[in-house]
Formats: sequence, C-alpha cells, structure tokens
Amino acid sequence: MSIFSDTKAIFGGFGVTLRHMLRRPVTIQYPEQKRTPYPRFRARIVLTRDPDGGERCVACYLCSAACPVDCISMQSAEREDGRRYAEWFRINFSRCIFCGLCAEACPTLAIQMTPDYEICKRDIMDLVYEKEDLLIDGCGKDDRYNFYRHAGIGVTQPRGAGLEESMPVDVRTLMP
Ligand code: SF4
Ligand code: SF4
Repeated sequence: MSIFSDTKAIFGGFGVTLRHMLRRPVTIQYPEQKRTPYPRFRARIVLTRDPDGGERCVACYLCSAACPVDCISMQSAEREDGRRYAEWFRINFSRCIFCGLCAEACPTLAIQMTPDYEICKRDIMDLVYEKEDLLIDGCGKDDRYNFYRHAGIGVTQPRGAGLEESMPVDVRTLMP
C-alpha cells in the first residue's frame, strides 16, 4: 500500500461520514408521529362482507389449513338455504406471523390483511380475536366480488345461472 492509497482511503471514510451527517434523520418519533404503511402492508386481519352485505366466509377451512402456525380456528354451519357460514371464527394474533397465506388461500376474499399494525395488548389473551372482532361491515379491497354470484352453484341458484357462467356440458355428448 502506498501513502497515496492510504490517504485516499482515509478521506474516503471521512467523506462517507460527512455525507451521512448531512442527511435528514430517518427516525420517526412513534407514537407521536406515525408512518403511513403501503397499501399492501400486511397487518391486522379482517373478515369482509360481499357487496350485498352477506358474510363472505363460507367456513371452508382453507385459510386454517394454509396457516403455517395454526392460529385460525372455526366451526362451520349451514343456513336453511344451504349457504355455509362460520358459526364462530377465531384468530390468535399472538401467534400470527402476518405471512398473508390465509388471504391468498381464501376463495371468497373473505379474509383480508389490512395495514393496521397497532394491535398491541397488555394481556396476551386479548390478542385472541373472535368473529365479532374480525367481521367488518365493508367489502375491503374488492368491493365488487361476490363468491355466490360465481360459485356455490346448485346451492343458491341453478347451474348455468351464475354471472358469466356457461351452461353445464353433458359429458356423454362428447363421447366419440
Ligand atoms: S397471516 Fe399467516 S400466520 Fe397469520 S393467520 Fe394468516 S396464514 Fe396464519
Ligand atoms: S375466510 Fe376464506 S378460506 Fe377461511 S374459511 Fe372463510 S371462506 Fe374459507
């Protein structure tokens, strides 16, 4: 190493320090100052309703099966018209890792992640959310999707009557 390269390295280091000294601080004085998370930030989970106001969740257990930490549980029930719903639905947020797999797995868009990250509690049992804590009045991120207009065929409507649904094909007519 020559004296020239040593001096260059020292002044390079000073330069980095000086650059950082002149930068605006990135520290946020939380909770007085709050940072707005990105819309796709994954935090508190909600259960949403379809545009008609009905519960979207059909208690299919897919979210529960997809959850890597087993923090979702529920009991399915059936209404008189054959429509399924969750009699109770529970999420233990003390175990949730906010991975979003439950929302990905949900066929009805019922379970959705929100950017609400302020769910700290003093008592860990308060982090067990029941259906009445989870179910919101709105549709969440997709305010037009209604699972029962696309699926649930044969339960609430005849086959072929769904939105953009073709009439069923008699497979015997396809035989050579
Ligand atoms: S976000 Fe992940 S850990 Fe949390 S309930 Fe959903 S699947 Fe489970
Ligand atoms: S939230 Fe979605 S995935 Fe979970 S049980 Fe309800 S419909 Fe199925």
